[in-house]
Amino acid sequence: MVLSQLALAVLTIIELRTVSAGVPLQRYEALLKQQSAPVDESLGLYDNNDQVVKMTVSNFNETVLEQSRGSLVEFYNTYCGHCRRFAPTYKEVAQELHAWREVVIVAAIDCAAEENNGICRAYEVMGYPTLRYMGPGFQPAAKHYGQDLSSLNVKEIRSLLALLVAAENPKNITNTYWPNFNYVSENDSKVSLFEGSHSQKEYVALIHEPENSTLAIETALYLTRWPSVEVRRISDTSVANKFQLDSSKRRQLALMNRQGQVQILTATDDTSVGFKNAIETALTKEHFTPRPEKSVEPIKPAVVPPSPYTEEMKLTLDEVKRNKHFVYQADLEQAIRTILHNEVPKVNDIGNDRLLALQRFLTVLNRYNPLGFNGRQLIGQLKDYVVQFNQQQLTGKQFEMEVQRLETLYGPIYSSTHFVGCIGSSPHLRGFSCSLWTLFHFMTVQASQNDDTSDPLEVLQAMHGYIKNFFGCTDCADHFQAMASRRKIWSVPNKDEAILWLWAAHNEVNQRLAGDATEDPQYPKIQYPSTSSCVQCYRNGADQPVVEHLAINWNKDAVLGFLKNIYNPEFVSRFGVQKELLLPATAEQLREKRQIANVFSDMDMRMGMLLYAFCIVMMVLAFKLFAFKGGYRKKPYGHDMLGKLNY
Ligand SMILES: Cc1cc2nc3c(=O)[nH]c(=O)nc-3n(C[C@H](O)[C@H](O)[C@H](O)COP(=O)(O)OP(=O)(O)OC[C@H]3O[C@@H](n4cnc5c(N)ncnc54)[C@H](O)[C@@H]3O)c2cc1C
Repeated sequence: MVLSQLALAVLTIIELRTVSAGVPLQRYEALLKQQSAPVDESLGLYDNNDQVVKMTVSNFNETVLEQSRGSLVEFYNTYCGHCRRFAPTYKEVAQELHAWREVVIVAAIDCAAEENNGICRAYEVMGYPTLRYMGPGFQPAAKHYGQDLSSLNVKEIRSLLALLVAAENPKNITNTYWPNFNYVSENDSKVSLFEGSHSQKEYVALIHEPENSTLAIETALYLTRWPSVEVRRISDTSVANKFQLDSSKRRQLALMNRQGQVQILTATDDTSVGFKNAIETALTKEHFTPRPEKSVEPIKPAVVPPSPYTEEMKLTLDEVKRNKHFVYQADLEQAIRTILHNEVPKVNDIGNDRLLALQRFLTVLNRYNPLGFNGRQLIGQLKDYVVQFNQQQLTGKQFEMEVQRLETLYGPIYSSTHFVGCIGSSPHLRGFSCSLWTLFHFMTVQASQNDDTSDPLEVLQAMHGYIKNFFGCTDCADHFQAMASRRKIWSVPNKDEAILWLWAAHNEVNQRLAGDATEDPQYPKIQYPSTSSCVQCYRNGADQPVVEHLAINWNKDAVLGFLKNIYNPEFVSRFGVQKELLLPATAEQLREKRQIANVFSDMDMRMGMLLYAFCIVMMVLAFKLFAFKGGYRKKPYGHDMLGKLNY
């Protein structure tokens, strides 16, 4: 096993050296500098083709608080797979409910964007995506951050939202377009229905519907921009009879004019859209039109941060694509940065289990920290800060402020500003979740080479706690915990097995997500490592293709050796790093340093020798001179060697 690991190490070194040499680093750096201009107007998972109102901290309050209309708000994380899967549904909701915008808008905010931390923390968002309805005049108060709409299909969202809107107290609402959601009562008459606030109306659309139905509410909301009509609900059969509707039909539509003439309308189907279409057709025939678009109150647009994507950058990152199994320093750093700047600060209360999980995570990160000297200072101090909270609640805000303080004190911390190996072929693919896996694999490998603790579970336990309490992909966290107990995480016997446990667990996730809508088409989910990265890892060899439905016969010793090499800090690629000086010296750099040191000592030796020779020459010369002068001098008197007087 040792020999095979050695062979793998040699192979990997050769491979890493050859490929790194071919990477056009300067070109990449130049492109990173050009990234100031945004390439599109997309914000998070939504862009200008969607009817979703895009919010950031720059326009959240103006859009949601104390408005004369309500808001449906989605809190999401761009890197959460479930949020990405839900995005098409939410776009559909926004498209369908665009006609309701005088009464309720469909908006979204990306909690993965650091600038929105404060908002997502204040609204105590605990899972992603979270949908909340905030009514007209909404102001957040303790434990009142809007009403949750947990249903996730378009129809359910539409009817739940309709119920919430209709339940508002109209007395508190100043919106002139707010529909009248009251049922027509026995006391109402054909005349009285034309009285009241909706003064421009020429028609009243009467909808006979079952109790608790949202058919009429939804229809009314679709028609808020038609001043000529008011939609009213009828559930009582005797009231239906009174207005000439067929009481035996539980979903019926009629249009009544000011003269009290009632016309039964036939809709293509018994849905709110069908009823709306039928009413619009009847009104258009009578030459009525909806209010012009410009009458809709404009919403302050969000400030769009520049996109980190350029076409050229994508091309450049093809270089990275060719070296898929490389581990990049930039990704490790971005994972840590996102954890410190976004994931942890977003959590409002960090107490009890969460505090313990954070303490464990920072302890492990401090031990196997891939950052340079400054980053080590930062994590060390941060760990000490968090560890001092005992039982006592730490808040996300306090954590955020401490990170800021320490980064000011010890910064600059990060040698890179972008994902490299984890960059997706388009924005919001891969990114943070990819870098998080990378960081935990890196730490399991570092742990196996460190004797500070013999606990084989330290990294896995830290990861388990982190994912459960802080990972912004709620769905992923649930799956991970279920998988952890199924795969008996707490029975992992040693540090090498911890590396392999995580590898196998990650492969299970890869298998589940292969072909999923969230998969980056340019980075398909594979069983890792591929045969092209590590042929020795397959017992059946590279010549036998991997058949998806057949279990791979892994050579686990080779896999372990491969992972230990790939996640070895010596081989972590520095491609894309802009401030290399912040990082610890690599072995190669240290060797170079030593060579320089040797050169100096050789010179010293030569200088010493020269000085030595020079001194000898000088002494000889001095001696000769002295002896020469002494030979010709006439001594006035003297003693011989025996002290006898010479005359
Ligand atoms: C703990 C966790 C659970 C998740 N659960 C879900 C989920 O339930 N649903 C969901 O939609 N998304 C989930 N995700 C996200 C998902 O796994 C991917 O991170 C995301 O789809 C991005 O994929 P990627 O192609 O960048 O590669 P990733 O799967 O993120 O892998 C990152 C890098 O790790 C290396 N790698 C890949 N496989 C292995 C392995 N077996 N061993 C060692 N290294 C490997 C490769 O170099 C790869 O580029 C989860 C993420 C995490 C961190």
